[in-house]
Amino acid sequence: MTELKLVFDEPVQKKKAPRHLADMTPEERREVSKEMGLPAFRGTQVATHYFTHLSDNPDEWTDIPQDLRATIAEKFTPKLIELVTTRTTDNGMTRKDLWKLHDGVLVESVLMLYPDRATVCISSQAGCGMNCPFCATGQGGLTRNLTAGEITEQIVAAARVCASGALPVGQTRLSNIVFMGMGEPLANYNPVIQTLKNITLPNPDGLGISARSVTVSTVGLVNGIEKLTEEGINCTLAVSLHTPDDELRDSLVPINERFKIREVLAAADAYEKKTGRRYSIEYALIRDINDQSWRADLLGRLLKSRNAHVNLIPLNPTPGSKWTASRREDEQEFVRILESYGVPVTVRDTRGREIDGACGQLAASEKAKN
Ligand code: SF4
Repeated sequence: MTELKLVFDEPVQKKKAPRHLADMTPEERREVSKEMGLPAFRGTQVATHYFTHLSDNPDEWTDIPQDLRATIAEKFTPKLIELVTTRTTDNGMTRKDLWKLHDGVLVESVLMLYPDRATVCISSQAGCGMNCPFCATGQGGLTRNLTAGEITEQIVAAARVCASGALPVGQTRLSNIVFMGMGEPLANYNPVIQTLKNITLPNPDGLGISARSVTVSTVGLVNGIEKLTEEGINCTLAVSLHTPDDELRDSLVPINERFKIREVLAAADAYEKKTGRRYSIEYALIRDINDQSWRADLLGRLLKSRNAHVNLIPLNPTPGSKWTASRREDEQEFVRILESYGVPVTVRDTRGREIDGACGQLAASEKAKN
């Protein structure tokens, strides 16, 4: 197995984020508890409060002696993210939260409510080093990787909002998680894997959400996909392809200069073979750039014998950008051609356009105000 090497330098955090129980394995939680001179089970108790009851409020931890609660909270649940703004749209069915981290860095998460599910889209990095020219996040570069605690906190916050009954659908349960916010998850590999464990381990060690309800999206870091294949976490893999030809992809998704389409699809095929999970191909439709019928034809030929599903995403234009969404008729023709090859295809509903919905836009507009 190839060892994952990050393709860009690891960004250094000036001041490290405090360690949180979500950065620890269940065993480490028990160890930390013992190091504090407490019985190991206190580590499990605090994880139960956090993952099962979604509580980081020591006043609610009634099974822990009152005089210990503050010390335990300080050690296990330090405050990692602080809500800066919430914007809602679609009659409250889409909610975008902007979070400030301990060092002032801003990241976003988006909660989307559907009749049958509640999905949160989370950020795994502050900014992104992949430099895709059509993406707001890519334009700002990579600020730093998030810790597992910082990623997990976005998910637990969304789960709390769902459980609170304050949403238009009343009380509900967070059911799906997608790593499609700011950042390239596989370029922040270990914290993302720890987060996947926090999501999928049963209570009290994790949130107990099925891996089938979790999607990890990548721009095509082949060594990361290979490593993920070996983890045995059967989440859904989404590959942001955006075009079926290397020539255009080299400029649309610059990492393509290192990992060509053929290699990316081979790695996704191997993932599908090992996990039995159909993967998805993400394709942002950009007017007159990658939405021609011949490209739909080429994509159809590439995918017709693969267990893949295409998600077409009408591009959400970023302010001042020359890139814009495809014409309706070109989008429909693209779908028709893919279907003629028997390739399953959906056009993604673009939630949150009115609230700076493209990844990175809310953080970018907030930064511009300061
Ligand atoms: S599209 Fe995704 S991978 Fe590319 S720069 Fe934006 S966040 Fe990064």
